Amino acid sequence: MAVATKRSKSAISRATATLGVAKRSIAKVSRTAGSASDKLPDLVPIEKYLKDNRIQRSGGLKFLRFSAGAGNFGEGALEVRGERASTGDPMTAIQRVYQSGGFTDVTIGTFVYTGSHGHWHFNAFAKYELLYPDGSLAASTDKASFCLLDVDRIKPRPPGSPRRPVYTSCNQGDINALQIGPQGVSVGWADVYKKYIEGQLLEITGLPKGHYTLRVTVDPENRILESDEGNNVASVQVRIR
Ligand SMILES: [Zn+2]
Repeated sequence: MAVATKRSKSAISRATATLGVAKRSIAKVSRTAGSASDKLPDLVPIEKYLKDNRIQRSGGLKFLRFSAGAGNFGEGALEVRGERASTGDPMTAIQRVYQSGGFTDVTIGTFVYTGSHGHWHFNAFAKYELLYPDGSLAASTDKASFCLLDVDRIKPRPPGSPRRPVYTSCNQGDINALQIGPQGVSVGWADVYKKYIEGQLLEITGLPKGHYTLRVTVDPENRILESDEGNNVASVQVRIR
């Protein structure tokens, strides 16, 4: 579920963070990510969800509300855990990459507790933008964070896709948690955020009437390890009246 946040980018890089994780005994595997046996996820935003959009007027303001969804078309699940030493620390997000016969854990950013949703969100999962016909920016979210869940099944079902949802918890209400998850998106499943959910909107007050492009970018900061980093953008045309 999405909500725009303005937290600064985590200073933890993937390369250095792997060491930190290993020290705390989460990763029993000392290999670095990116080896040939990795079963990586491949997140792809799905256009049909973006087409589910409408204009909402409220208190003299105007919004474009829209659904968004990202499917996992890769060989492995996207699986992310959170952990921290104390409630005063940021919740580190750790991606578990499965391999034939094992796994490796890689730090990819942070989770934030989002009060308006009452649960934990992976920071910087997606970015939403509205573009003028010439491609310039009309409106955008700085960053959208999500609880990662198996919501819809992709059809046709890709090989290796579980029939039942695997990732079903956002650690609802668990604001003082030291460990959360795993959250994730299974192979052949999509994480979907309906347009009525808080944060699934862009303010369009005062924008001229006309045709625009609504664009979603999954993993805009390229933190998640994926088999294909080049298919993270989807867009649809919308008309503002
Ligand atoms: Zn949420």
